[in-house]
Amino acid sequence: MLSVDRVKAAYGQSTILWSVDMQVKKAAVTTVMGRNGVGKSTLLKTIMGLVKTQEGNIDFNGTSIVNQASYKIAKAGVGYVPQGREIIPKLTVRENLLLGLEATADYKAKMTEEEIYDLFPVLQEFRKRLGGNLSGGQQQQLAIARTLISAPKLLLLDEPTEGIQPSIAYEIGDIIRRLVSEKNLSVLLVEQKIDFAKHVSDHFYLMDRGKMIKNGVAGLF
Ligand code: ATP
Ligand code: MG
Repeated sequence: MLSVDRVKAAYGQSTILWSVDMQVKKAAVTTVMGRNGVGKSTLLKTIMGLVKTQEGNIDFNGTSIVNQASYKIAKAGVGYVPQGREIIPKLTVRENLLLGLEATADYKAKMTEEEIYDLFPVLQEFRKRLGGNLSGGQQQQLAIARTLISAPKLLLLDEPTEGIQPSIAYEIGDIIRRLVSEKNLSVLLVEQKIDFAKHVSDHFYLMDRGKMIKNGVAGLF
């Protein structure tokens, strides 16, 4: 459903992605691993149109999205949860959640608040609390929920378990698996924790210095 072909991308003069090839399959979790600074976050930003692609192509469900405006990519059905949790601290949990609706083209397609709270009960419990007063794990769940409410077909998740204790990370992993099986969601996950990655992923890529150097479980573990 997403195909990245020979993509080259740079910040100004410094090329970060040299030639990235990868595929994300429908209703599955595809995970990119790799050391700090190899370009994993840059890859997600490039897919999202936030970093300019200089060469190559990115195809989403049969349409090229390369260098489109990021709001158009979002409206086409790509949801993005950046690294670090960008929660607005002075808005309530519910207000933070509903901000995600702005990325929706088709309001009928959105997930209802009830569906979100069914996946993330803690957000219902704390819906009136300020975003800044949630724990790191709760903020991460809110960041994911805010993106999900616009019912994306593809979810880009950048290190959702960073700074989160393992039991909460596994809860988030189980929510991801439910979305894949119940909503046919496709997920492109960037993850550094090998055990967690093995737990949630169907397909793997290993990235090094702006290229995919291995793919498939056999090559990685
Ligand atoms: P981490 O595991 O630490 O999150 P990463 O694989 O996600 O690392 P990126 O954030 O994609 O790595 O960064 C890749 C390279 O691009 C790094 O050398 C980084 O310093 C550089 N870089 C990132 N953002 C910018 C920017 N806005 N301008 C210039 N260089 C940048
Ligand atoms: Mg990163």
